[in-house]
Amino acid sequence: MTAAHYIGVDIGGGSTKIGLVDASGAILARQRIPAREGQGADRILDAYGTAVDILLHEARIARLGGVGIGFPGHIQADFTTGMNSNVPALDGMPLADILSDRFGCPARLVNDADAGALAEHRFGAGRGVGRLLMLTVGTGIGVSLVVDGLPFDAGNCCLGDAGHIVLVSENPVRCRQGCLGCLESVASGAAIELKAREIYPGAAGGSATAALVRAAAAGRPEALAMIAEAGRWIGMAAATWCNIFAPHHVLIGGGLSAAGQSLVGAIRDEARRRAMPYNITNTEFTLAELGNDAGIIGAAAVVMP
Ligand SMILES: [Zn+2]
Repeated sequence: MTAAHYIGVDIGGGSTKIGLVDASGAILARQRIPAREGQGADRILDAYGTAVDILLHEARIARLGGVGIGFPGHIQADFTTGMNSNVPALDGMPLADILSDRFGCPARLVNDADAGALAEHRFGAGRGVGRLLMLTVGTGIGVSLVVDGLPFDAGNCCLGDAGHIVLVSENPVRCRQGCLGCLESVASGAAIELKAREIYPGAAGGSATAALVRAAAAGRPEALAMIAEAGRWIGMAAATWCNIFAPHHVLIGGGLSAAGQSLVGAIRDEARRRAMPYNITNTEFTLAELGNDAGIIGAAAVVMP
């Protein structure tokens, strides 16, 4: 008999979220572990293990169906070890083997952007979609493709660095990773935060984007114009992704998706204006549904039957 409870681990640079998930994709309980500067892999894994122990103890669960681990970097072909992440202490560690041994159940890694897309495909706004393209507009811009329920990976990591597609010819600036005039240089969360601070200088501590989203929701023209501009850049890139992958459905998630239809509409309209009609006429563009929970749910989904 298959145990009907799973653990989803969503590893992030700032904190790691761990959830107890049932077979319907519901998160029954969760733990959050803040990242600590300079902490080694042993301590980090011990904290993960303790968090899982607490979840199992409180829910009185004796046996797990599996542990899925969303990893913010590249995944090696055996799905046990990750590389090139923003949590360098965990790079090269056989995380899946270690957690599998500790909890006596299958464990497996998945790229974190892929985890979000898988969660939406199985339990969210992308249910049953044949070719699902997921855009996560967060600090960067993640691009994942799910084909017939499986992530389509380039280089063991979602669609590689598709968020760095080069678009800007006039006065290009460099993105944080060093390319010149890419999508992330103009429309990632990091780029939008910088622009938003020019209008909302009072919003210190990385919250100018939140102020921007609130102003857009209130119908303020300058905020709507900034969201529309970001949407146009993302839509231009989406036109190319649609020409390559012809997705049936494009989902938009991540922090900036709090701007809602003003962002989705701008992305859709620009993509439709630019792409080959054949590749995009029947493509739907909608908001993702699962928000920040998608990382936990999608990680758990990779160890579900
Ligand atoms: Zn770039």
